[in-house]
Amino acid sequence: MSGIIVQKFGGTSVQSPERIKAVAGRIAATVERGHRVCAVISAMGQTTDELIELASQVSPDPPVREMDMLLTAGERISMALTCMALDALGHSAVSFTGSQAGVLTDPRHGKAMILDIQPDRVRAALDGGAIAVVAGFQGMSTDTKEITTLGRGGSDTSAVAMAAALGAEYCEIFTDVEGVFTADPRVVESARKLHVVSYDEMLEMASSGAKVLMLRSVEYARNHNVALHVRSSFVDSPGTWIRGEDERMERAIIAGITHDVTEAKVTLKGVPDQPGIAAKLFGDLAEAGVNVDMIVQNVSAEGHTDISFTVNRDEAKKAATLVAKIAGEIGANGYDLDETIAKVSLVGAGMRSHPGIAAKMFDVLASSSVNIEMISTSPIRISCVVHEKDATTAVNALHSAFELEAESALRDSHVGVERIDSGDEAESSSAGVA
Ligand code: ADP
Ligand code: ASP
Ligand code: MG
Repeated sequence: MSGIIVQKFGGTSVQSPERIKAVAGRIAATVERGHRVCAVISAMGQTTDELIELASQVSPDPPVREMDMLLTAGERISMALTCMALDALGHSAVSFTGSQAGVLTDPRHGKAMILDIQPDRVRAALDGGAIAVVAGFQGMSTDTKEITTLGRGGSDTSAVAMAAALGAEYCEIFTDVEGVFTADPRVVESARKLHVVSYDEMLEMASSGAKVLMLRSVEYARNHNVALHVRSSFVDSPGTWIRGEDERMERAIIAGITHDVTEAKVTLKGVPDQPGIAAKLFGDLAEAGVNVDMIVQNVSAEGHTDISFTVNRDEAKKAATLVAKIAGEIGANGYDLDETIAKVSLVGAGMRSHPGIAAKMFDVLASSSVNIEMISTSPIRISCVVHEKDATTAVNALHSAFELEAESALRDSHVGVERIDSGDEAESSSAGVA
């Protein structure tokens, strides 16, 4: 029997009846080429945002359980409509909610983690010759038996997890851009589509703002070795493959530049420079469920220092309230909250072996009159916090200074560029580029 392919379609790809019919056509064409297809579908267009807004009109603080019941309705609408459109094309298709598809999660409403997938019904549908259409973004808690959601953008994770559970050949992520680009193509006009990106690079890109893939979906793909193909649902060209790094892989020093305007900076001022203060601050934040990203502690002057950290803007007020309380307890000079920051990052596996990238980044930002407020690094990423208003300037200046628009830019020598063949001659090219 032919292999299984998982195809995920994001919100824009199913935003109207016409788009749903186009998606059905795309799935049907894959089936007609001899594949078995499990489709994972997001809610239509802005449905999830509209449902969140609707909830806010009836309650200032909606119960998280009911919020998940509400939001999962979005994917339920689009999965059923997709099956109807497939039926109209003469294809047998069956839709499944997350729980029907066996997506088992922990009980945390709004940010549940997938613990296991038991896709018996999906597999039976596929074995019976039908197309399985699964609602993305949702599951059921093994513990509470409640319906859960996986966090914004969670359909990517649903798709990858389904691909792993079904032993799919690969997982295609159909979206509104043609693949993963060297920068957000909506911000940098000359951004270039990448042929191949390693899991490690994609993890850094996703965690630093490239929302084209949800971070957790990339973690899941890496842990389960699921090859991903990010591509457009609007045009038929090959997209970007995401897979494990190997010696044949494209070796750009910089894979891409990301920016993230979803964080805020909190500064605890005039902290007594004593052991245990950071442990208390970040311990209390962790206990309150606040996720901290970057942390900077200044050099102390006269026994006092400042500690700054970034958190998601959704959690900024909560973090600030907590910090105000801690400031009182430890005798600090109060706090600042800045919700107008942006994090700009350079990501690339080649950084490991190429010194001078950070210096060049700081130089480019300085030449563009962009002030750096915080810096953090990983072996393959350098991030700078700047003012939000400077984000577009910074990303464009870096993109051009590192010559990312050029295919041959800043590349390790002697390493060819290779694209993976999806197995569909009509859809993908396997040509090697020297
Ligand atoms: P979907 O609804 O299909 O899940 P998303 O809106 O979540 O789509 O993700 C696609 C968007 O990600 C694109 O429209 C693009 O603006 C944005 N994006 C940010 N960074 C990148 C990048 N480096 N490459 C491609 N797209 C990016
Ligand atoms: N509909 C959900 C959201 O808007 C999940 C997704 O689209 O991936 O976040
Ligand atoms: Mg998305």
